Amino acid sequence: MNIILLGPPGAGKGTQAKILEGLYHIPQISTGDMLRQAVQNNTELGRKAKSFMDAGKLVPDQLVIDLAKERMSQPDAAKGFMLDGFPRTIAQARALDEMLESLHRKLDYVLDMEVPTTVLIKRLSGRRTCKSCNQAYHMEFEPPARSGVCDKCGGALYQRDDDNEATVGKRLEVYDDSTRPLIEYYLDQGILRVLKGDDSPETVTKRMQEILGE
Ligand code: AMP
Repeated sequence: MNIILLGPPGAGKGTQAKILEGLYHIPQISTGDMLRQAVQNNTELGRKAKSFMDAGKLVPDQLVIDLAKERMSQPDAAKGFMLDGFPRTIAQARALDEMLESLHRKLDYVLDMEVPTTVLIKRLSGRRTCKSCNQAYHMEFEPPARSGVCDKCGGALYQRDDDNEATVGKRLEVYDDSTRPLIEYYLDQGILRVLKGDDSPETVTKRMQEILGE
């Protein structure tokens, strides 16, 4: 099964991807996580991407397309994948279509998670992320059992550089301008499913399972 999780920053794509990984045994492919890793490792890609990410802007298409292609060609993605944060532009979506076509594969579903902007802002500004496994928490709504420590792996929690108020606003604007048009793109392909994302992770997962089990 090949799935895209679509939705604005803070919609819960990463949280759902991690739950669905356990249920469907297909990997989460998060370009954001991969880029943050590249920044942390100070690779050439990381150095090129950092200023865009810190400003809440999109990293240039070709860099992200190459990164996603490379990851999708790994053996663990042969049976399926969940794309989280990719594609984010029409050019990326077209590149993905071309790549899948050349591999005789296709997308099964694009799950579009709709969450009101006021909720997104609250979620992003209170978000804390595990440095080791990227699990997300929320200081108020979903705190870890021990302050600053990941429940899953014991890693240290931190606030992402782009989860501050000014950058969050820019990221939401970029979503509206560059990524929202993908909704229509996938609607035209007949694979878009829209679901309400402003409920508990468990409730949202159930909604997704209903769609995926169709
Ligand atoms: P995310 O963790 O998905 O919110 O991504 C964090 C940041 O990484 C974004 O704000 C962008 O700067 C960059 N990024 C992640 N995925 C993409 C993508 N598909 N296209 C362009 N930039 C991306």
